[in-house]
Order: sequence, then structure tokens, then C-alpha cells
Amino acid sequence: MRDTELYEALLGIKSPWRVTKVVLNPSAGRVDVWIEDQPGTKWDCPECRQKASTYDHSEERIWRHLDTCQYGTYIHARMPRVKCADHGVRQVSVPWAEAGSRFTLLFENKMIDVLKECDVTGANRLTRMTWSEAWNIIEKAVARGTRRKEKRVPEYLGVDEKSFAKRHSYETLVCDLRKGTVEYVLDENSQASLEGYYSQFTKEELAKVKAIAMDMWDPYIAATRNFVPDAEAKIVFDRFHVTKQVTEALDKVRRREHKQLMKSGEEWLKNTKHLWLMNEERIPDWRREEFDEVRKMKLKTSRAWAIKEALRPFWDYSYPKNAEKYFKRWYFWAAHSRLDPMIGAAKTLKSHLPNILTYFKHRITNSIVEGLNSKIQTVKQMACGFRNREHYRKAILFHCGGLDLYAKTV
Ligand SMILES: [Zn+2]
Repeated sequence: MRDTELYEALLGIKSPWRVTKVVLNPSAGRVDVWIEDQPGTKWDCPECRQKASTYDHSEERIWRHLDTCQYGTYIHARMPRVKCADHGVRQVSVPWAEAGSRFTLLFENKMIDVLKECDVTGANRLTRMTWSEAWNIIEKAVARGTRRKEKRVPEYLGVDEKSFAKRHSYETLVCDLRKGTVEYVLDENSQASLEGYYSQFTKEELAKVKAIAMDMWDPYIAATRNFVPDAEAKIVFDRFHVTKQVTEALDKVRRREHKQLMKSGEEWLKNTKHLWLMNEERIPDWRREEFDEVRKMKLKTSRAWAIKEALRPFWDYSYPKNAEKYFKRWYFWAAHSRLDPMIGAAKTLKSHLPNILTYFKHRITNSIVEGLNSKIQTVKQMACGFRNREHYRKAILFHCGGLDLYAKTV
């Protein structure tokens, strides 16, 4: 087999294209492959698909391809232009690359795999690409995936805010809870931004939404009520956010009490923060004795902790009615605890109770979104490369969007 035939087979090059020359340059670490078209070939006009003959050829162009063993491999070709009777002179597309790309389709697809596994800097080190080349592949892949994506609203939605870059700057992730993918990244966590998402769909489409998990965040609630039919029965406040209200209240009680105790030199609560916050059964054995001892001291913190723990069985109920009954007992206790932060948290929960109880019907949470967090964290750590929010948004869709990113090869 001649080298040109070998490369025709490796590249999957078919008539009217053929490999005419292969040059191996070991000291430069590269293989260069020249491809030419057969003279007299009739091409499809890219506009109308009518057959047309070659008009001329462009200047030689070079595409990077997958490596041949340890050698970088580059394809050279002059692209034919046709003269169509209706459309004039047009550039013919080549089967190995997308228009305007400096990489072959197979190389781009390989890069997508590499970029999914590591950050842009790591991918650059592994593949000798520049940052902007790698970024360009991400952008094209996301554009491809977004184009192919069916426009529909997921049946089970998760709406979650994430802080972006600096504090006090947020974006909203809209997730498909069934697929575990990020559907959309919205600027801000405002009512208008979520309404912007909903407004892409008709009322009939939005009526198909079965449930939406979200934080107890008024702008999200208002946007959903404005757009989603029967929103009252569909909004489910995320149980982890609900629980967080109570754990934060507990922590406030602990901080205040610790300050008080320290004034008289009592260090009972020192270094105990995480013991109070974790679920009781997760307290490590080596700290259990110390924890039990502090707990017996009838501190305010112990009382707040008991209230926090008492909310946990609430989530185990099967029937909303029973759960509601349990909640009311819990609320009575919390509201009479004489612990201001706890009373505040209990009131917040009570005022949102109808859409906390919807959990027992739909059983959804945003835990999938939380699960995506580690990926999103990685995306954020790459943030030095993200010069703007748009880059960040695309990186999230690249890693978490569940999109079909790959270029179709023939
Ligand atoms: Zn034409």
C-alpha cells in the first residue's frame, strides 16, 4: 500500500477527492497530507444543489487533523469553487471540515471529548492548542447542540440561583430535573429573567409542566404564577432550601449564645459549629461524647438543635394531610421556643406551607442541580479564562446542557 492510499483509507477520503502527496517531517514532528479533487468533477451548488462544474480553486488551506502516532497531522487542499447558472461563483464545502474551521471534523470531535474531561488550560497542554482555538471549539459545539435541540419545556423543572464571579451577582439555572441537565442559564435571579425563559413558550406548552422545584424566592414565584397555568399546584419549594432556613436559624442562635458565654469565659460552644449543623447520626464517634455533654447543658443552642432535628421526619410522610398535621405540631413548638431566629424561620415556613406540601405530591427537589454543582464549580475555577458571563454560560451548557455537541462526520 502506498502512503497516499494509506492516508486515503485513514482519512476516509472518497472520490472525487484523493490524496496526492504525504510528507513526513520527523524533526518538525508533523505529517502533511495533500488532497486534491479530480479534474472535471461536477459539484453541487451549495445554494440549490444543481450540478455545476469547477470554476477555479481557492488558495491552499490547512486543517489540523487527529495525530498520526506522535506526529501532528495537517491536511492541505485548495477548495474548488463552482459557477452555478443561478447563483454565480460559490465555494464548495469539503467533507472533512465545516466551513471556516481550521480543524477537521474528527479533530473537533476528539477535542470535545478532551474538553469535557479537563479544563481549557489542561486541554491546551495535552493537545498543543491555543486557548482561543479550544474556546472556539466549545462555542461551535454549543451552537451546534443548541440548534439541534428540540424546543420544548421540560415536564419537571428546577429553578435555582447561582452566584457568579463576585458576590451579589447571580444567574439563574433552569434545569430539566428528569434528564439532570441545565436547560438555560439566565442573567440575574430576577422575575424578569425567569419570565424571559417562560415567554419562549405558549400557554399550552407551559400547561404541560407538571412541577417546578425552586427556592422560596419571591421573584421566581411571581414569574411562575404569571406564566405557568395552575402554578399554585405545581410550585414545590425545594426541601433543602426549606431545611436551610432552619439550620441557619440554629446557627444564629449558636453564634449569639457562644458570644454571651465567652463573655464569662465559658467555652462550651467553641469549635462545635458543624456538630450542630450535621444530621445527628453523622456526628463522628470521636466527638459524640463531647457533643452529648454540651447538649445536656440546657443551652439555647441545644433547644434550637432539637427543633431542627424534629423537622427531619416531616419529609418522610407519604400523605400531605399527615405531613401538614406534623408540621403544625412542629410549628407550635418552634414558634414558642423564645428563640427569635427559630421563630422567624418557622414563620417563613408557615407562610410558604402550601407549596412546601406540594412536595408530597410531586416528590421533586433541586438536588440534581446541587449535583451539577461540582461540574459548575469546575467551570467556575476555569473562570480566569472566562472573560465574560457569556463565556461562562456557554461553558455550563457545554458541560451540563446534555446537548448533542458533536460534528456529524461522513
Ligand atoms: Zn445554485
